[in-house]
Amino acid sequence: MEFTGLNLQELEAVVLELGEPRYRARQLMDWVYKKGTDDLDQMSNLPVSFRERLKDRGLQIGLMLVAEAQEAGDGTKKYLFRLQDGLCVEAVYIPEEKRKTVCFSTQVGCAVGCLFCATGQQGFRRNLTAGEIVDQVRKIGQDRKTRISHAVAMGQGEPLANYEATLKAVRLLNADYGLQMAARHLTISTSGIVPAIYRLTEEALQLNLALSLHAVDDSLRSRLIPMNRTYPLAQVMKACRDYATRTKRRVTLEYIMIAGVNDREADLRSLVELTAGWLCHVNLIPYNPVPAVDYQPSPPRVRRFFLQSLEENNIAVSIRQERGAEVDAACGQLRQRIKESTD
Ligand code: SAH
Ligand code: SF4
Repeated sequence: MEFTGLNLQELEAVVLELGEPRYRARQLMDWVYKKGTDDLDQMSNLPVSFRERLKDRGLQIGLMLVAEAQEAGDGTKKYLFRLQDGLCVEAVYIPEEKRKTVCFSTQVGCAVGCLFCATGQQGFRRNLTAGEIVDQVRKIGQDRKTRISHAVAMGQGEPLANYEATLKAVRLLNADYGLQMAARHLTISTSGIVPAIYRLTEEALQLNLALSLHAVDDSLRSRLIPMNRTYPLAQVMKACRDYATRTKRRVTLEYIMIAGVNDREADLRSLVELTAGWLCHVNLIPYNPVPAVDYQPSPPRVRRFFLQSLEENNIAVSIRQERGAEVDAACGQLRQRIKESTD
């Protein structure tokens, strides 16, 4: 049984079943999430006999090992975690003065198959469990000996295609007995699964939603992001606007800038039309070249032109900093270079 996938109620049920008082569940949560201990033997305020019974029940704390890690000069650190079945996923630690962010994965591989994405090119292996998602953030906090303040589901996988586990993990990151991260500091990024966006709206959590927009007309977007063939742009935008209206949270629209593909003036005009007048924010991202597609990032002057034009139209916009370029910190790239034990 994996510990980090359990919420308080579930852990209390285990504790009661083992004949211990309910408050032992909180004590366990404290050790694991607040004190960052994986070792039952260190949990000195728990009776030895209880710890033994937990071991007999097969309670596992800490589900994965760091298979490899690379740190860049700016402190960005990329982790490759080996899961218990031998598959690997990656997560990235991004330190800034005021925030410590972890970018985590929600699936091994991804079935969406975006043209420009290293993960998409690898295909889908399996969903991560809630415990495997939470543990990426927890383990990195342990390793960096710091409180992780922000987390974004922008590693491998499509979070809304693994809805239950992702939401359970997010609630554990947010819980007062868990990692105590503010919901407003948690972001889910999606290629645009419309029914799941509406479902997320109903959760009444103050989560940030990011949409991987990347193109402003259906024919290009369908070529780049096959999900668009099922949920075309008009439907996706409607769902995002509805999310913004209902939650009063600003939706981020991610826009990878690919030279000659989606960075023409006509694209800019449509981008302005799509984003003007509602609670959104455009994040311009330099395309990070991956093998197998002959795309290049837009030149800096084109990026600046997009930035300025959007600003002139009063649209909230930023250019995502390229962090940790030396450690291949872009989506899917570290994992691609590592041989998995099950391959
Ligand atoms: N599946 C989700 C979240 C994971 S991908 C989604 O697609 O939104 C996280 C982000 O990395 C997405 O915005 C994705 O479009 C972007 N991305 C993927 N490949 C990239 C590349 N080669 N260069 C820059 N960004 C990339
Ligand atoms: Fe999957 Fe996101 Fe990569 Fe597309 S960009 S293949 S949805 S991980």
